[in-house]
Amino acid sequence: MKHDVRMRGFASRVDVEVVDAYLREHARPLAGKQVGLLDCIGRVLTEDVRAEVDVPGFPRSAMDGYAIRGEESFGASAYDAIRLAVAGISLPGKPYQGELSRGEAVRIMTGAPIPVGADAVVKAEVCEEQDGFVSISEAVAPRKNVGAIGEDIARGTSVLTAGRRLRPQDAGLLSSIGRASVECVRRPRVALVVTGDELLPAGSRPTGPQIVDSNSVVLRGLIARDGGVALPFEILPDLPERIRAAMADDRADVVLVSGGTSVGQEDHAPRLLSELGELAYHGISMRPSSPTGIGRIGERFVFLLPGNPVSCLSAYEFFAGPTIRALGGRARRWPHRRAVVPLARKIVSEVGRTDYVRVAIENGRATPLATAGASILSSTVRAAGAVIVPRELEGMPEGTSVEVLLYDDEAPDEEPAEGA
Ligand code: AMP
Ligand code: MG
Repeated sequence: MKHDVRMRGFASRVDVEVVDAYLREHARPLAGKQVGLLDCIGRVLTEDVRAEVDVPGFPRSAMDGYAIRGEESFGASAYDAIRLAVAGISLPGKPYQGELSRGEAVRIMTGAPIPVGADAVVKAEVCEEQDGFVSISEAVAPRKNVGAIGEDIARGTSVLTAGRRLRPQDAGLLSSIGRASVECVRRPRVALVVTGDELLPAGSRPTGPQIVDSNSVVLRGLIARDGGVALPFEILPDLPERIRAAMADDRADVVLVSGGTSVGQEDHAPRLLSELGELAYHGISMRPSSPTGIGRIGERFVFLLPGNPVSCLSAYEFFAGPTIRALGGRARRWPHRRAVVPLARKIVSEVGRTDYVRVAIENGRATPLATAGASILSSTVRAAGAVIVPRELEGMPEGTSVEVLLYDDEAPDEEPAEGA
């Protein structure tokens, strides 16, 4: 029987950086696939996109007014208006069909094609139309108020490059150059293997010795944040055969096992992983999350996340999150906003161990909420974010300026001033 450490404890623990290096080495972006224009926002491009057309493809009016030959307006003023015959009208999508002759103007709306023969647009505010003639009281130079062919995007120019995470306006631009789809990195599929005889499914009411699964709820939110797709799952009892079958599911790119990852009697996942593939690391010098396991089954990444809710969250953030992002073509680094503030109280840690410390921020200072307490999920709800105490520090004294990885991805509204 491979790697059965149950009830014997961890002989040694590996550093966070070692595990990170292993994941960094093996996690490469997944292949690209065609993604429809309406689904591409937030996804990562794998192709360089060039415009095959000019936008606009015709000279267009930037104003509501009259299209004219600019030179015919020279000298026009409020005291000395010029008069042109209104030959017709040009609307967006319904151009004036004829060619403008000398002495003529065409009524035109913003976005409409400039008629052949015209080269400028006078804005409606300085024009007065009556009985088929328009008097114009302001001169315009040729090209005035005319958007040239390709003024937005010229045919042949590079508009977006591979690696770009697409913004809403990027998708808009792709639409305007006539693309219906683009090639983007496939989104990593994530299988959840939620284990524990004591667990009730989310949405239940806890009763007796049973608790309600919260880890999968948290994990699904984090997976979505990181661009992965969580596959449907069911809660499994601590039965090795059931857990083995779920871990072997080869539809997934990433398998997240929750619970049963340590060295207790019901902790089967480490042994199962070492039998199905490779258990590269088990037991990490960190707090919480020390009973985390990491490995692979073929090309699939497997993360054994401890059942304790804070451990599960922290192990995800350190290891699974960066891997899912890398597979999806995103940056590996933690995606949190950051705040740099002084510590209101010291943080105690140990040299050789990396700590994930929840902190509240009050009056511009960070207060550690709990360095232990891996089971206290509410600490992450009260906290504004987390501070990571690196391995080489024994702790951090009061007043140290720390970087807080904020849990909220948007800054909250300013508190209204007292009495306001
Ligand atoms: P384990 O890692 O399986 O030893 O579980 C450690 C602790 O986390 C136990 O108190 C479990 O009841 C709890 N736990 C395990 N899985 C979950 C879960 N999905 N949601 C919330 N708590 C859990
Ligand atoms: Mg368990």
